[in-house]
Amino acid sequence: MQLTQPVNKPVASKPCRTQGTRMTDRTLDADYVIVGAGAVGMAFADTLLTDSDATMIVVDRRHRPGGHWNDAYPFVRLHGPSVVYGVNSRALDSGRIDEIGLNAGLLELATGAEICAYFDQLMRQRLLPSGRVQYLPLSDFGADNVASSRMTGVRTQLRAKKKIVDTTIADTRVPATDPPKFPIAPGVRCVAPNELAKLDAPGAGFVVIGAGKTAMDAAVWLLEQGVDPDTICWIRPRDAWLLNRATQQPSYEFFADTFGALAAEMEAARDASSVDDLFMRLERAGVLRRIDPTVTPSMYRCAIVSDAELQQMRRISNVVRLGHVAAIESERIVLEHGVVPTSPGHIHVHCSADGIPRKPQQPIFQNGRIVPQYVRRCSPTFSAAMVAHIEATFGSDEEKNALCTPSPIPDEPIDWLRMQLSDARNNYLWSKSAQLRQWLASARLDAFSAMIARVDDDSAPEHAAILERYFGALVPGTERLRRLLQSAA
Ligand SMILES: Cc1cc2nc3c(=O)[nH]c(=O)nc-3n(C[C@H](O)[C@H](O)[C@H](O)COP(=O)(O)OP(=O)(O)OC[C@H]3O[C@@H](n4cnc5c(N)ncnc54)[C@H](O)[C@@H]3O)c2cc1C
Repeated sequence: MQLTQPVNKPVASKPCRTQGTRMTDRTLDADYVIVGAGAVGMAFADTLLTDSDATMIVVDRRHRPGGHWNDAYPFVRLHGPSVVYGVNSRALDSGRIDEIGLNAGLLELATGAEICAYFDQLMRQRLLPSGRVQYLPLSDFGADNVASSRMTGVRTQLRAKKKIVDTTIADTRVPATDPPKFPIAPGVRCVAPNELAKLDAPGAGFVVIGAGKTAMDAAVWLLEQGVDPDTICWIRPRDAWLLNRATQQPSYEFFADTFGALAAEMEAARDASSVDDLFMRLERAGVLRRIDPTVTPSMYRCAIVSDAELQQMRRISNVVRLGHVAAIESERIVLEHGVVPTSPGHIHVHCSADGIPRKPQQPIFQNGRIVPQYVRRCSPTFSAAMVAHIEATFGSDEEKNALCTPSPIPDEPIDWLRMQLSDARNNYLWSKSAQLRQWLASARLDAFSAMIARVDDDSAPEHAAILERYFGALVPGTERLRRLLQSAA
């Protein structure tokens, strides 16, 4: 067959229509409007899908689910085990214990990329196919419950027949999206940790700025890449109490370590003569660690480290404790309480974003609105699932709030006491409800209840003895914490 060549005829050119001219306002409604498709929004939606027949709209300004994990540095991992992270209906872990690296011997920790893929699949394979969830990515939720698309400008009026679920309260700040608050002179190289993996030439040295988990990750990663510790300067405005990861292993093979630590916490609380004495006891019991045993920490943010990571961090001896950075000039760094030298060849690593800023707590269940917060210390996704379960299965907001005392976002060591007290209160009230006991026993994100249940099944006397220690110290320990907190106040 003979093919005739198409003849290119000139066509009258037509201007592209501007988006503004086709902007349409529309209305979408559902039982719940969930603002934020981060870990908390996803964990909430997942449990609500299981425990109710509600419809939902999930709206987020990012292009895919996972929240701040989408902007994380490439070497980020969870610092707590994957086994209790994510959503209730779907495992994030593969049941492995790490064999190599600085987490060897402990439960696996998902990478940032794995977390993003997990939430993306959850949205595409479970939430959307349910037919009960609508998802508006790249959309800003604003005044009057209008979602504005960042791509098309279309403004969608969202109507919640039941409640708006506001998961934006955590306001997570990461270096890639939260630039340094101090001025940086022209020519100074100051990068987010995200840029470290893209460097094309070595720096004269590295200056890690920050005291939190991101700074720890950056410091450890530089050492793992073979950087000489003497060429690293670590500006650490505060030192932190850190959780020992070996005691944070919610899986039955680690029962003695994990419940042994819970028992040791309560025994330390019971026997403490002061807040300072409490922290010394927790350290001696192996629950808490600090990088430098000669410095009294003034920070506690639930960061979890392995002993192998700790040993690495201790290799860096040039630690600057002169407060926060006020400015970086080409030859010196100006701090609140002094000055240290630097050079244009140095790479300054900005790890000073606030992470999870401290906010005043507020009731979780409000009139027509749910504001998920931690209901178990430093457990954002368990807490979101628990709040969703309580929303789906209990009656009035008063009843629900009574079961959900928010646990503070920690910042200082004294917050360790506050978190223990809110946990004690919530655990006690949950234990009074047969329905909640049953839910917790089967909740993937809980893990602790299932571990306790297995002690009876396995008739393991050494585990039963640990539980006896824990329950024996619980009431006097809690009572003592309450008094220590009062005296500190
Ligand atoms: C580096 C790092 C490591 C961590 N490791 C762990 C760990 O190991 N274990 C653990 O339990 N926790 C960990 N956390 C805590 C972590 O913050 C939580 O696990 C969780 O990811 C927080 O989720 P989120 O949904 O509250 O917040 P975000 O991830 O911040 O999600 C909120 C979402 O809301 C959206 N949003 C906000 N405002 C609007 C608006 N007006 N309109 C539309 N969308 C909006 C944002 O775009 C965002 O996607 C870690 C945190 C960091 C920073």
